[in-house]
Amino acid sequence: MQVNQALLDKVRSVIPYTPGDQPQGKVIKLNTNENPYPPSPRVAERLQEFSIDQLRLYPDPTMADFVSTIASYHNVHESQVFIGIGSDDVIAQAFMTYFSSGKKILFPDVTYSFYEVWADLFHIPYERPSLNTDFMVHVSDYQGDLGGIIFPNPNAPTGIYEPLDKVEEILKANPDTVVIVDEAYIDFAGKDTSAVSLLDRYPQLIVVRTYSKSRSMAGMRIGYALGHPELIKRLLDVKYAYNSYTLSQLSFLCGITSIEEEDYFQQQIQKIVKTRQWFEDELTKLGFEYLKSSTNFVFAKHPSISGAELMKRLKNKHIYVRHFAKPKISDYLRISIGTDEEMGILRDTLYDIVS
Ligand code: PMP
Repeated sequence: MQVNQALLDKVRSVIPYTPGDQPQGKVIKLNTNENPYPPSPRVAERLQEFSIDQLRLYPDPTMADFVSTIASYHNVHESQVFIGIGSDDVIAQAFMTYFSSGKKILFPDVTYSFYEVWADLFHIPYERPSLNTDFMVHVSDYQGDLGGIIFPNPNAPTGIYEPLDKVEEILKANPDTVVIVDEAYIDFAGKDTSAVSLLDRYPQLIVVRTYSKSRSMAGMRIGYALGHPELIKRLLDVKYAYNSYTLSQLSFLCGITSIEEEDYFQQQIQKIVKTRQWFEDELTKLGFEYLKSSTNFVFAKHPSISGAELMKRLKNKHIYVRHFAKPKISDYLRISIGTDEEMGILRDTLYDIVS
């Protein structure tokens, strides 16, 4: 049986985002920037205490307890918090909500590749100003009659952090435009790096966070946005126009418990940052070049072996890293920081390949 072309012509066709491989079995998985350490043991305890009978009921559509936990963690009002199913969901809804003027939006030419997919999906015109040769943003590119601005800070896949004064310059130049700062990796960037501190002064700013990296919960799918109450209200209205019950009760439980376990959380981040520093030094010894990372991954290239070739050889040894066959970055590999043991094996394997 075949579907006829006249029918298919009426059906939407999109170019999807390509997620990293999710290989099963025993491999060293350093390709999707997951956290190598589990969430706090307290999360497991709370899950065991959870009564399965509660699953009969719909979750609270307002997510009141979780919203209030996140609000007090960031010292903002509850009306400034929006929670979604991972930051992909939050950003997709933010595109629908904030970028609806028909004017072009801007994001860097080298950045999270989902932005382009959402812009196409929602018919939002866009331009992608070039990063400079050091993969940094030119602030002067981000002004004019715009429909919106979005960029990750630190950027992905480069790992580079843009200082807050640059973010602020972009905000100052765009008082009438929503500016989304995607802070998926900010917890690895050190103290006082987050644009959350700018929320009080810039009503057009939306900051997006995820539980998938620093909070070790990619599998739970939790992300959130912080912003001015009026903008958050618009985002909530779009959510309620689309799907009222987004997060599960288990997500609330895990999400709240993670925030209560601040010491554990900070310890895991410190461990990853330490391993990252060690790995960067090892990369130098092996003759690699890398961009200074403020994240839980390193973007590195070798002067004589192509990114595609390196990825292939690592995969043969059951080590998964990410390669993007795209202009400007095809020489590079994006390598997530794993445990010390995993990074030691990776180092030895890279040594065998390059020597
Ligand atoms: N933003 C950036 C920059 C990312 O790298 C990712 C992870 N792929 C996301 C958002 C989405 O993460 P999640 O949906 O798991 O929260």
